[in-house]
Amino acid sequence: MGCNIAIDGPAGAGKSTIAKKVAKELSFIYVDTGAMYRAMAYYLLSQGIKGDEQEAIAEKCQGADISIEYKDGEQIVILNGENVNGVIRTEEVGNMASVSSANPKVREHLLKLQRTLAASNDVVMDGRDIGTTILPDAEVKIYLTASPETRAKRRALEYEQKGIACDINQICQDIVARDLRDMNREISPLKQAEDAVLVDSSEMGIDEVVNAILHVYRQKVQA
Ligand code: C5P
Repeated sequence: MGCNIAIDGPAGAGKSTIAKKVAKELSFIYVDTGAMYRAMAYYLLSQGIKGDEQEAIAEKCQGADISIEYKDGEQIVILNGENVNGVIRTEEVGNMASVSSANPKVREHLLKLQRTLAASNDVVMDGRDIGTTILPDAEVKIYLTASPETRAKRRALEYEQKGIACDINQICQDIVARDLRDMNREISPLKQAEDAVLVDSSEMGIDEVVNAILHVYRQKVQA
């Protein structure tokens, strides 16, 4: 059984940036579960399925074979034999992921992959339900959040750096809508696990957040 660090929180809270750095510091594997849900959403969109077609989502998701590999420490998501890392980071895919991830069949499909990775490796896994559902026995649980405005600014900056045009107000609206869906769905809603440590990064720099999490890890695991 690996040592598991679960980081949950809303869209744009900085989970992946932080989780990657914590994983590097500890020589753990970083597992980005959002990328798996995005790969599934990308597959469903490519099949012409819309967000409100829950029956079709339940049926078609069975055709998505999703796995992950690591190249130079970076997670590569493989969808039916193809690397989809370059096509899953769009608002369209993110919004579809937030709708299709509420489907029980989609979650069931990805749960095994996530638990298998955590069982055989030391992992820092980020997502929405890692501390509550996927890895309830994780040694360290963090709930990482920030204000919607801060999160929208961070997402807009990410897009700018990639040369993708975006509208910050639209991003902020999407984030608030995504929070609502993720927090209010019936299955595995986004919420802070009872034993998770809350970290609000609105006024914190990246290294400060990384150090805060490493501090929790040392207290819980190395004490
Ligand atoms: O974190 P990211 O924005 O890449 O996740 C995309 C969507 O996937 C989220 O809005 C959420 O609905 C879904 N997701 C989930 N459970 C996870 C990770 C992501 O439902 N563990």
